[in-house]
Amino acid sequence: MNILILGGGGREHALAWAALQNPRCDRLIVAPGNAGIAGIAETARLDIEDGAAVAQFAGENAVDLVIIGPEAPLAAGVADRLRDAGLLVFGPNRAAAMLETSKTFTKEICDAAGAPTAGWARFEDAGAARAHVGATGAPIVVKADGLAAGKGVVVAETVAQAHAAIDDMLGGAFGAAGASVVIEEFMTGEEASFFVLVDGEDVLPIGTAQDHKRVGDGDTGPNTGGMGAYSPAPVMTDAVTEAALTRIVRPVVAELARRGTPYSGVLYVGLMIEVGQPRLVEFNARFGDPECQVLMMRLGAQALDLMLACAEGRLADARVNWADDHALTVVMAAEGYPGSYEKGSAIRGLEALTGTSSQMVFHAGTALVDGQLVANGGRVLSVTARGDDLLQARSRAYAMCEAVDWPEGFFRSDIGWRALGD
Ligand code: ATP
Repeated sequence: MNILILGGGGREHALAWAALQNPRCDRLIVAPGNAGIAGIAETARLDIEDGAAVAQFAGENAVDLVIIGPEAPLAAGVADRLRDAGLLVFGPNRAAAMLETSKTFTKEICDAAGAPTAGWARFEDAGAARAHVGATGAPIVVKADGLAAGKGVVVAETVAQAHAAIDDMLGGAFGAAGASVVIEEFMTGEEASFFVLVDGEDVLPIGTAQDHKRVGDGDTGPNTGGMGAYSPAPVMTDAVTEAALTRIVRPVVAELARRGTPYSGVLYVGLMIEVGQPRLVEFNARFGDPECQVLMMRLGAQALDLMLACAEGRLADARVNWADDHALTVVMAAEGYPGSYEKGSAIRGLEALTGTSSQMVFHAGTALVDGQLVANGGRVLSVTARGDDLLQARSRAYAMCEAVDWPEGFFRSDIGWRALGD
């Protein structure tokens, strides 16, 4: 079959790599892709937020399945447009993707479905929001309602910090995404990400992971898009997984179907787990990056079969062939990230790192300039390995990081610390 993947990060490199393991994949096109993806698949220039353009491209290239990587095309309704054109799509329609694009929507759905999450209130007026915080006290969490690239959330330690966040967000710092704020009860516990495929009705768990949002070792410094991840997450025991499915995922999926906006695609369920009880922190309507890299490394070729079963509404009969393995990914980023950083520095030494089913260097922000691989973004490489246990996966990943010759890059040295207890 012919497959089109939309996106150009480490996540899409991992999706492309997994698709190519599967003999079902005859032709793979990734738009826009990146330098690493160009080494394994065709790449195409395409406005991936323009549903009509993507549908036309897919038609011209006899594409059988479109896999949508990032959230922006989902928010722009690209999945809707492709489905209208009769194409098979992995990724939810715009109305269902609101689980990611509107925090108010998610809270309302959770309340209607009885899914446990932080107590909340929504405000458009700064005075009312400030008064609410004054009455509730801190710590408290202030969130811009819409998509703000992970920057629209402030966990305020003090009432003054919460007030400042309210003024910032309702004052226009996030444009339309901050036209209203959601103020949430502060939850304590351990966070984990739970990934499920949903075909409108049926739900299939495909793995768990934990990421590392802060830029520095020991979870210090500013937030990033993610500096590393591992799978599985030990905190996601069978009992916690079952509780998350029965109390959160299935009721929410049923509520969306009941409203006539069924969810189809991968659902990223961000959880806070305290004394064995999961509560919802957030949903995302796509794979996380870099969590996708560790999930794909563990699922391998079957990932494509599962995504196809999801797109075709056949999840009731689909099964994951679980291996008792672990995967870990270390993100190599450009010095300065998540602040300002230079582009164009040369990256050498990757030729020696042969990709196998147990180790891969997935590319995020890379480009080829006159035949030389260069950094072309903040997060640049996602160095990923699999092992019989997490320690082995980590040793393999860090051995590869050391072999990358890129003086202008850096990485965290403690990915996996929470699970490995160091
Ligand atoms: P992302 O970058 O994952 O897309 P986002 O902008 O959608 O983030 P959330 O996931 O809602 O934001 O929040 C970001 C982080 O803030 C969470 O991972 C969690 O650590 C913290 N957080 C959010 N809500 C709460 C809460 N109610 N209690 C405690 N911590 C919270």
